Amino acid sequence: MSDHSSLFGTYMRIPLRFERGEGVWLITEDGDRYLDFATGIAVSSLGHSHPHLVAALKDQADKLWHLSNIYEIPEQTRLADRLTEATFADRVFFTNSGAEALECAIKTARRYHFHKGQPDRYGIITIEGAFHGRTLATIAAGGQAKYLEGFGPKAAGFHQVPFGDFDALRAAIDDNSAAILIEPLQGEGGIRQIPKQWLQDIRALCDEHGLLLILDEVQSGVGRTGKLFAHEWAGITPDIMAIAKGIGGGFPLGACLATEDAASGMTVATHGTTFGGNPLAMAVGNAVLDVVLEDGFLQNIRDVGLIFTQGLASIADRYPDVVEEIRGTGLMLGIKCKCPNSALQVAMRDQHLLGVPAGDNVVRLLPPLTITAEEARMGLEKIDAAAAIVSANLAKQA
Ligand SMILES: *Cc1c(COP(=O)(O)O)cnc(C)c1O
Repeated sequence: MSDHSSLFGTYMRIPLRFERGEGVWLITEDGDRYLDFATGIAVSSLGHSHPHLVAALKDQADKLWHLSNIYEIPEQTRLADRLTEATFADRVFFTNSGAEALECAIKTARRYHFHKGQPDRYGIITIEGAFHGRTLATIAAGGQAKYLEGFGPKAAGFHQVPFGDFDALRAAIDDNSAAILIEPLQGEGGIRQIPKQWLQDIRALCDEHGLLLILDEVQSGVGRTGKLFAHEWAGITPDIMAIAKGIGGGFPLGACLATEDAASGMTVATHGTTFGGNPLAMAVGNAVLDVVLEDGFLQNIRDVGLIFTQGLASIADRYPDVVEEIRGTGLMLGIKCKCPNSALQVAMRDQHLLGVPAGDNVVRLLPPLTITAEEARMGLEKIDAAAAIVSANLAKQA
């Protein structure tokens, strides 16, 4: 159907061509409507063509598109003020993507120790199954062989410990350690939740050893789990946090947030970006926050999330040959499959419902945060129908 021969062969593309979007729906060139529980992987957080976002972008497009960071950008200051007001952070650096937000987070942690007279403390400890992006530093942080292979020596100073192994984490700390970097709820790794207690213990471990805690909330942040940030469920705060995806609502936007102390090494000329914090991105980021910070918005995510977990639990009960387990919080959900996750994923697509595959044989559901209870039930019906078909096929094969 599609010929992508002039593009790098880095993507296996599904032969679907979407032309426009409306709320939770994506509409193909042929007018077929798909319920979008993929949202460009947790990016279109307010659904498609949200009128407030469209207006903010159009309005800014008429005024000014781009300015270098050598000038003051009032909308950038405003978005940073609002993000620091709503979080643990005192300082913000804007980027265009999640990987760049992580790069800034890693540099900030290393530079912190350098600034405090300990330049040898550059080691970053991460968790197996992590995903932090595709730059040279972030593939080293993620530690996955399939992403590292063939790209030269792995960037130095990254150490990985098994998921859930607190003793290994403690043992990995040495005189060179700078920070522990984790996703409070792993996305690509298969919607794997770091237990609350573990997060609290990791926070205490960081304090005990003078390490910075870096959280990667690129996927779990900006309301996705029903709190503004997923770490709030554990009652802890990080020193540094990377965000992206949902904060841009579809516009490329990321940010690195830090406390005053953690950001203390990032002095004039230590870091920079051409596009990061650009006026178009700032207009959209501020518009996203207008909606996400409204009274009741996060509560609705928790309420609809509950409809999903209950509905999915019932599907898991009825199709134990298809579904092994339901995972996740709020609207960051995973169906751990008994069958190959691709079978359920394809069956869902046949029902005109889009999900996203993840590691550990999981299908992720990342619907727009604006989804209504009724739309959630429609999605559950499609998942039910897809599971029924997969189950029937499995019975036939047996
Ligand atoms: C998507 C993602 C990234 C990378 O973001 P990009 O914008 O693709 O660079 C990093 N960390 C997590 C947890 C992600 O989900």
